[in-house]
Amino acid sequence: MVLGSGFGGYSLIRHLRRAALEITLVSPRNYFLFTPLLPSAVSGSVEFRSILEPVRRRQRHVRLLEAAALGVDFERRSVRCRSAVGAEEFDLAYDTLVVAIGAAVADYGVSGAARFALPLASVEDGRALRRAVLERFAGADLPGLPLAEVERRLRFVVVGGGPTGVEVAAEIQDLLRGELARSFPALAPVARVLLVEAGERLLSGFGEALSDYTRRVFQRSGIEVRTGSAVSRVEAAEIFFADGRTLRYGLAIWAGGNAPLPLVENLGLETKPDGRIVVDRYLRVPARAGVYALGDCAACGEPPLPATAQVAQQQGRYLADVLGSKREMRPFGYRRMGMLAYIGAGRALADLPHVQWSGRSAWLFWRSVYLTRLVSPANKVKVLFDWVKARLFGRDLSRF
Ligand SMILES: Cc1cc2nc3c(=O)[nH]c(=O)nc-3n(C[C@H](O)[C@H](O)[C@H](O)COP(=O)(O)OP(=O)(O)OC[C@H]3O[C@@H](n4cnc5c(N)ncnc54)[C@H](O)[C@@H]3O)c2cc1C
Repeated sequence: MVLGSGFGGYSLIRHLRRAALEITLVSPRNYFLFTPLLPSAVSGSVEFRSILEPVRRRQRHVRLLEAAALGVDFERRSVRCRSAVGAEEFDLAYDTLVVAIGAAVADYGVSGAARFALPLASVEDGRALRRAVLERFAGADLPGLPLAEVERRLRFVVVGGGPTGVEVAAEIQDLLRGELARSFPALAPVARVLLVEAGERLLSGFGEALSDYTRRVFQRSGIEVRTGSAVSRVEAAEIFFADGRTLRYGLAIWAGGNAPLPLVENLGLETKPDGRIVVDRYLRVPARAGVYALGDCAACGEPPLPATAQVAQQQGRYLADVLGSKREMRPFGYRRMGMLAYIGAGRALADLPHVQWSGRSAWLFWRSVYLTRLVSPANKVKVLFDWVKARLFGRDLSRF
């Protein structure tokens, strides 16, 4: 039984295709989401459905149960589940259990963050964010509003200078300088995107030259970057910083790191201080026979591998080999392929094992890599068409 249809779980079931195993996938979503293009879907450069792959379309060797796991009885080898539709509860027995349920968005205990700032981790989050951006413009385009209030409503604050925060800020700025500027010519010059980061530099996982380059590109394109700015509280229209400064905003976006999901906390397994389940080099959960964990919810190696799609995908593939063959397996070995990030204005960063570069050619590389990494031919064709459509006709600003 596999819990989760994300990068880890989906990669596992895809590669277990040839093994004569009875596979049950339990996931509240009936699709796989290609998260690296989620920020592009927020701006409308690609459509949400183009980056989803329904599990039942190609993975017919798997029994998909659209449900969330609530808890595991390791003695009885059974998982308590709640159906995604109808909220009915049931138990399901397993021989082998793979926990690949990902992670929640960390609010680091910042009061009001979860309530007032929008996250970006799921399709629902992405849709809400896209709508919220368009709503802010509709709400600022009213007669008689004082300029200070228009400025507040059109102040978009992204909290978190990691890859997700940087990409979201870049995509929103592209939209502001593109289609929104043409549709709201009087408002667009007033609108501002701000990126705030507690650390001293953006994209701390990338090389320093690339993070400096990002800052320069953001400066040129009008995104204000505030590093060394730790958020201490978020209220309905105002952000408070640890150093006493405040910032009034129209839309706050929370691009924090990962936190453990409640299910992981309730399993009673050994975890790292960041809440990830400890696994050995074969992705086995110690002292729980037949139980494996991978992806964002698991900590493998010392120091633990990063919580990225690459790691989850490679672990899923590795575990498919382990479970699908009777051969003695080598421990999991991670192959770092490098990192990419879109930074707006048709520019990207490529931080690869032997070379780092940035700019327009890196953007073309970014696009071609993601096009090849999308999991199905249907995804690839749809995303390619979306890019061409957006180029020819502009991004769609319909608010629904
Ligand atoms: C906006 C965004 C952009 C990103 N961009 C990149 C990038 O460019 N490169 C990169 O390497 N990484 C990127 N990441 C990180 C990457 O998405 C994750 O590291 C990766 O998805 C982890 O895979 P996973 O299988 O562990 O979890 P996920 O892909 O999150 O999948 C978790 C699955 O578990 C299911 N689930 C949750 N709770 C339960 C439950 N109780 N029972 C059953 N199923 C459950 C979920 O529905 C989901 O199907 C990005 C993340 C985000 C949010």
